Amino acid sequence: MDLVPFKVCTYDCVYCQLGGTTLKTVDRKEYVSASKLLCELEARLKTNIHADYVTLAGSGEPTLNGSLKEIVRETKNMTGIPLAVITNGSLLFMDEVKEALSGTDLLIPSLDAGSGASFRRVNRPHGKIRFDSVVEGLMSLKDWYKGRVWLESLVVGGSTDSDSEIEKIAALVDDISPEKVQLNTVVRPPAKPEALEVPRPRMEQFASFFRTPVEIIGYKEGSGREDSRPVPESADSEILELVRRRPVTVRDIALGLGIPANEALKRTGQMFKEGRITATEKNGQIFYIPAEGSKNEP
Ligand code: SF4
Repeated sequence: MDLVPFKVCTYDCVYCQLGGTTLKTVDRKEYVSASKLLCELEARLKTNIHADYVTLAGSGEPTLNGSLKEIVRETKNMTGIPLAVITNGSLLFMDEVKEALSGTDLLIPSLDAGSGASFRRVNRPHGKIRFDSVVEGLMSLKDWYKGRVWLESLVVGGSTDSDSEIEKIAALVDDISPEKVQLNTVVRPPAKPEALEVPRPRMEQFASFFRTPVEIIGYKEGSGREDSRPVPESADSEILELVRRRPVTVRDIALGLGIPANEALKRTGQMFKEGRITATEKNGQIFYIPAEGSKNEP
């Protein structure tokens, strides 16, 4: 569920796959209305979709939505599916955000830097967000959050890919105590071309710096559902929705929609031929993005 529109965020990360932040803010407001989101969820649940989680995210920072508490409460009332939140963690120091998130089951916050200087360089936060507050918010999780915490840390080649930086992050992680660290790098087209991908062998070295279990996620393989359940007719519009949110590979589409990889490839190829989506290449991988004319397509 997208709780904020493109691209309302407290940060403007150099690696952001969505491009530059258009509204950098710390103002919590109902950027997307709770009733609209809950209606969409209700409609989606009627399709008997199988889901491991309902995930609160957005084309920006979801905890900026001022109706977060209501959205969490009503989503839990409507479905027995566990509720996950993907957040940059910048507002976890706020009591109202803690209160809203306390009803969720899985939190995936971020920590990409080990010092204020690298935080400002990589995440380019709003002027009112301080590194110390972000770290305090993350460290407070073990005191009040009852769900699972997976901490994502994205290493930016040419910026935070040094032993000393990762050692600092690993030391902070000791005090945050997440269940695991998801170590990522710039595998998608970034907002700033100077944000580079870190080679896998170097990421494996970095993983060994942590005392907490680490999963390297940027290079994960997998190709979506392999069974032969029919692919719904709505798949094309869902592909378009995914492509509008961020650059996606065929694998992302297969996993995101829960459809077989060959079906995702077929649909994507057809939409490409029809000029509804277009493609860009990064490190030998093809990422699909919206074609100019399809931006207003329903
Ligand atoms: S990567 Fe996430 S936190 Fe960073 S600017 Fe993009 S949406 Fe915001």
